[in-house]
Amino acid sequence: MLIIKESRELNSFLSLFELTGLKVSFVPTMGALHQGHLALIRRANQSGGLVVCSIFVNPTQFNKAEDLEKYPVQTQSDIDLLKANGCDVVFLPEKEEIYPNGTEYNLPFDPEHLDEIMEGKFRPGHFKGVAQVVHRLLELVQPQELIMGEKDFQQVAVIRKMISDLELGIELITCRTVREKDGLAMSSRNQLLEARYREKAKVIYQSMVECSQNLKSLKPSEAIYLALEQIESAGLKPEYFELVDPLSLLSISDEQIKGPIQACVAAWAGDIRLIDNMQVRH
Ligand code: AMP
Repeated sequence: MLIIKESRELNSFLSLFELTGLKVSFVPTMGALHQGHLALIRRANQSGGLVVCSIFVNPTQFNKAEDLEKYPVQTQSDIDLLKANGCDVVFLPEKEEIYPNGTEYNLPFDPEHLDEIMEGKFRPGHFKGVAQVVHRLLELVQPQELIMGEKDFQQVAVIRKMISDLELGIELITCRTVREKDGLAMSSRNQLLEARYREKAKVIYQSMVECSQNLKSLKPSEAIYLALEQIESAGLKPEYFELVDPLSLLSISDEQIKGPIQACVAAWAGDIRLIDNMQVRH
């Protein structure tokens, strides 16, 4: 596995690789890798071309300085995991490589309503930061395929819109959320959870499973009320529990008695913010 830090070096390597005519499949990450990330690497491998993974903790997507400061960094063990899981190139850029002209947002892309709901509402500027870094990484890696996790459901919707609005011509492939045994979605942030909150955090998954049952007899607004109550009585602080259309991400009204519904949740477990989602009606 190649370890590349400079975009110039990445560019020379990719120009040579292009001669093979094979695809480049790209998995962007912020490191502190776990089985969720490795599932994306394995999916990238199935395409039979070059598997490139980037590790870059992107400052522009953190709306709170302390969240960025405490984000776990474990580069050497990440490299070992990537090597063992069939990654071909790991790209470890410095901030200057990603933002040579500063971090000001100047992409001709607007996430529009996606920036005003759920994660967009509670983390102002987050999705512009995500769009900015993914756009820059795509410019440097020039992949045919971009592989992302459904764990970050709204992020996928933003990147799908960016690829379409800017006509980037890249295939977006999504992978299912990988969970711990008790249902908690794997996340780099889980390792920051205090033990007592780690135990309680499974309620996020349980609330979505129960919501799916409740929707068989209750209205969406009633199912939301119960889910929020369930999360709160387990000792977490829910920020939102929304039921949305999986494509538009618009809220489901009580009158919509048919069609797919995605539950999207954000909750604080102590001072760690967790997000998750699940399809609760098919
Ligand atoms: P991150 O390092 O958190 O920026 O995540 C990098 C990629 O891994 C994103 O596309 C995430 O959606 C994906 N990812 C994170 N956690 C999981 C998980 N538990 N299952 C599947 N994909 C995940």
